[in-house]
Amino acid sequence: MSPEGLKRRALLQGGSLALLLGIHEIARGASIVAVRVWPAEDYTRVTIESDGRLNSQQLVVGNPPRLAVDIEGIDLNPALRELVGKIKPDDPYINGLRVGQFAPSVVRIVFDLKQAVAPQVFSLAPVAAYRDRLVLDLYPQKPIDPLESFISERMREVPNKAQAAAPAPRNAPQMAEAPAAPKAGAEATDPLGDLMAQAARATQQPSSTASAAAAGRAPAGGGLPLQVPPVASAPTPSPSPARGGATPNQTDRIIIVALDPGHGGEDPGAIGSNGTREKDIVLQIAHRLRERINASSVNGNPMRAFLTRDADFFVPLGTRVQKARRVQADLFVSIHADAFTTPDARGASVFALSQGAASSSAARWLANKENQADKVGGVNVGNHEVQVQRALLDMSTTAQINDSLRLGGAMLGEIRGIGARLHKGQVEQAGFAVLKAPDIPSVLVETAFISNPEEEAKLRSVAYQEDLADALMRGIQRYFAQNPPLARSRQL
Ligand SMILES: [Zn+2]
Repeated sequence: MSPEGLKRRALLQGGSLALLLGIHEIARGASIVAVRVWPAEDYTRVTIESDGRLNSQQLVVGNPPRLAVDIEGIDLNPALRELVGKIKPDDPYINGLRVGQFAPSVVRIVFDLKQAVAPQVFSLAPVAAYRDRLVLDLYPQKPIDPLESFISERMREVPNKAQAAAPAPRNAPQMAEAPAAPKAGAEATDPLGDLMAQAARATQQPSSTASAAAAGRAPAGGGLPLQVPPVASAPTPSPSPARGGATPNQTDRIIIVALDPGHGGEDPGAIGSNGTREKDIVLQIAHRLRERINASSVNGNPMRAFLTRDADFFVPLGTRVQKARRVQADLFVSIHADAFTTPDARGASVFALSQGAASSSAARWLANKENQADKVGGVNVGNHEVQVQRALLDMSTTAQINDSLRLGGAMLGEIRGIGARLHKGQVEQAGFAVLKAPDIPSVLVETAFISNPEEEAKLRSVAYQEDLADALMRGIQRYFAQNPPLARSRQL
């Protein structure tokens, strides 16, 4: 800031400065500089950012459900009052809130809730562009099960499936489809089970499907598009996992690809010089890739994309991995568009996990930066679950890394094919925390450097995002063509 600017700022703050100098005690107090609300199905977060650490106490009240939070050492100010207007009508947890000066230097916020919550309240020290933060995470009392949500989301889609059975993208190398006979006159009490039963059968004929693949194209039984049984009439999408034996003869194996749009919520990721935020771009790309995945199949088995986040909220790195494991994903693809130290850094790159040293100093640098996401996004490190997650992430295996390198190689080849510049000609390796699912081939795709103005413009363009999604889809299919998914009885 220029000397002029500093002077002006000092003048503006003159009143409080004088007070600070005169009465030392007030220096202990903090003021609120910003408030943010991130509503999401998983949890709603309220962040109160201040110029000093805040102490708080909270109280959950039962009927009707409310949460009262007393913040000590502050006075009600306009920034804090803004919180009231920031609650959206579709917030899954918060109906509304009131805020008031409860006692001298104590502000009370009362949240009127839509359902009982299990709140987590914690402080974060200043990091990146943020000052001190007091974080109120409102979780449901019964934690959301990613698998249950995935199944019910899937069942909502099924009714549209018949019309939506669009052919896979033209340029995608079409996989052969095994004639997995659709179930005639199915009662369809357990559609997912039916699907899985079909898959089990399909994978029992690997040689025929392989030769069909070699022949280039196999007509799938009478041109039926996807082997999704017509279960539209199934009335209640209440997924109750263990319904053993309900589906004796037909099964299918859904191939699940976990897509992991990086960052989100409090963590914007990298920001381009024109203000493009990584978290927004990567979610858009993930949506485009999801469309392609959901319209594809592997050897007759339908593919489905599972998103570790499908909105603008923060998901801790360990939770991303845990979610993918919960749905027993076959692959994990983390999508990013980072900044680098110099604006001329450019090109796409693909990373796998490294158990030892990183493959280059740039890879190490990027992994370190990505692993900071939990600090910026804000994780309650005191939480037991977070600690368990972290411990689990130290069990990476050589087999996982080898598969990840194959997947990454297939993707890199396709990205090269769309004429995108590559940062490096091969898959790089470093200790990315988000790639540590011990049992899921996992890659992190840096789609381009948002810090490069030309690439920032490209990342915003629909055409480039579509090309990229096509390339990643072809990479996934190429990988499966060479590494067919294993038969697996999903532990639901
Ligand atoms: Zn990133």
